[in-house]
Amino acid sequence: MGMIRTRLLKPDQIQEAAELLRQGQVVAFPTETVYGLGANALDPRAVEAIFAAKGRPQDNPLIVHIGSQNQVEELVREIPPEALLLMEKFWPGPLTLVLKKKDLVPDVVTAGLDTVAVRMPDHPAALELLRSTGFPLAAPSANISGRPSPTRAEHVYADLTGKIPAILDGGETGWGVESTVLDCTAEPFLLLRPGGVTLEDLRAVVPVQYGEPASGAKADQTPRSPGMKYRHYAPEALVFLVTGGAAAPKILELSEPYLKRGERVGVMTWNERTHLYPGLSVLPMGSEGDLEALAHSLYHLLRKADVLGLKALFIEGVSEDNLGLAIMNRLRKAANNREIRT
Ligand code: AMP
Ligand code: MG
Repeated sequence: MGMIRTRLLKPDQIQEAAELLRQGQVVAFPTETVYGLGANALDPRAVEAIFAAKGRPQDNPLIVHIGSQNQVEELVREIPPEALLLMEKFWPGPLTLVLKKKDLVPDVVTAGLDTVAVRMPDHPAALELLRSTGFPLAAPSANISGRPSPTRAEHVYADLTGKIPAILDGGETGWGVESTVLDCTAEPFLLLRPGGVTLEDLRAVVPVQYGEPASGAKADQTPRSPGMKYRHYAPEALVFLVTGGAAAPKILELSEPYLKRGERVGVMTWNERTHLYPGLSVLPMGSEGDLEALAHSLYHLLRKADVLGLKALFIEGVSEDNLGLAIMNRLRKAANNREIRT
């Protein structure tokens, strides 16, 4: 793919973004979770351009975004009653439901699976774009594969300039972490990726399994959510996730060899704890325990590690309640499972 000029569109230029999508092009747009890179989900050639721009592995399926709840019926063969309950409660919002697909959904979207992941985003610009094109948009996060997801138009620009025709700038996204992905073809429903709609939120409505594979599951089964096996959300720095009560002395000890070589070391910690780390570049996570604020700034902080040229980044773990489950899931991936328990 040759270099193309990337236009930055303002919210009053949604119709220009819609026109590019109608022509079979890709456009980055804001959602309430992170920026998405969208293309007509029913046009395989348009969808292929998403994979090319991101450098995304072909076996990682895409989420299909819709602008109204009745569009889901065009895409899926059946909707279990419990899934309908969830749509009514959480759509539009950060909940993606995996359902049996109809033949109309191209294989390139679902990586050949017989299921499709669908959600309705809760963002005025995304909804206006969807409603004005009239077709569903396949849209993964608008970053280079493996990099932290974009929560600002400038993050998209940093990754994809010269590779896509336009970015619709809607300012900072709200949640800051990707949607919850729930497999509604499993019994009970299976949480594949924690996100903005928490496990606690879901379980208040329907039974949901998460974690250990159900007994009887075969080891050689096709992975339920192919995307989850890839390294993700990672800055250039070597990332370590440090949990437990003695995180600070451990981080200081592990920093020493880097500092001795004159290399920069960063730490992500709550505002109240920044004084524990003299000599380190501190990336403050917000006031202690504020998981919403941390989710909102998480990817911006990970991208800042690159801007600062950090050699190593230590991140203090957080509680896995509510939004903490999604945050820790992303941090473990950013750390490539380098987790140190103190
Ligand atoms: P992204 O849009 O980049 O945040 O990633 C979408 C996530 O949804 C990935 O983890 C995919 O593996 C997952 N996903 C998309 N479609 C399906 C599907 N049909 N079945 C299971 N997981 C899916
Ligand atoms: Mg992604």
